[in-house]
Amino acid sequence: MKVFLGGARGSFPVSSPDKVRYGGDTFSLLVEGRDGTQVLIDAGSGTRRLRRRLQAGGTLFFTHTHLDHLIGLPALTKAWPQRMILPRGDLEQILARVFSPPVWPVKMPPAECPVPSAPVIVGSLQVAWQPVAHPDGCVAYRVDEPATGASLVVATDVEWPEMTPRARDEFCRFARGTDLLVFDAHYLPEEYALHRGWGHSTWTDAVTAAQDCGTHKLWLMHHAPGRKDAEIDALGAAATAAFMQGIVCPAADGMTAELRENR
Ligand SMILES: [Zn+2]
Ligand SMILES: [Zn+2]
Repeated sequence: MKVFLGGARGSFPVSSPDKVRYGGDTFSLLVEGRDGTQVLIDAGSGTRRLRRRLQAGGTLFFTHTHLDHLIGLPALTKAWPQRMILPRGDLEQILARVFSPPVWPVKMPPAECPVPSAPVIVGSLQVAWQPVAHPDGCVAYRVDEPATGASLVVATDVEWPEMTPRARDEFCRFARGTDLLVFDAHYLPEEYALHRGWGHSTWTDAVTAAQDCGTHKLWLMHHAPGRKDAEIDALGAAATAAFMQGIVCPAADGMTAELRENR
C-alpha cells in the first residue's frame, strides 16, 4: 500500500518563506493498493498536488465538510471521482451549497453520493470509519489492504481531550495495530487551554493516541496556519522524545510512505 499526502496544513492554505518545508496546502491524502486501486480522502488544497497521479472514476471519502477539506475539489475536474462518500449523508446538498453561483461559477460534474452503513470495499482496499470529536462532526478513516495486511488510520480533525473515555477506547480498538496513524497535532500543549472546543488536538494528544492504539508510526498533521517550519521541527523533536514505541514525524506536503511493500 502506498500513501501520498497532498497537504498537511490545517484550517486554510498558507504561503510564506518560513513555511516552505512543511508546506501550506490543506489536507488531501491518496491511498493506492498494490494493484493500483485508489482511495482519496478529503479534497483540501493539496488535492492539486495529487491530480497527476489520480485516475478518473475513483472514490473520494470525506472526513467532514469544513472548507479546508473540500476547497481543492475543483482541481479534480479532469480526474473526477465516480463516487463521493460522507458517512453521515447530505453530501450532495452540502457540495451544491458551496460549488454553485455566486460562490463558485463552474458547475461540478455529477458523482454518486451513496450513504453506506458498513465498511466500503474499493477494489483491493477496505475503508471503515469511526466518529471523532469535532465541531459539526467528523470521522476517522481506516484503510486496510487484506492481501498484504497493510493498514492506515487517518484522524485529521479530532479533539482528543473532548473524547469520552469510552469514545477513546472505541477509537483505539478501531485503530489497533495500524501501520501508520495520521493524527491531528494542530496545537502546542501550552496553546490548548485557549482553544478548548475548537476541535483540534496537540502533539502530546497525538502521541498518547498512537501509544494507546499500539501503532509504531505516527504522522503529525493539520499544522496550525501560523506554525513556522522551525516551530514544526521543534514540536517534531519533542514528540520524537516522547514517543517511545516507534517513529514520529511531522507531515509535510508531498510526503509519501510505503506500507508492507517488502513483506
Ligand atoms: Zn481541518
Ligand atoms: Zn474541521
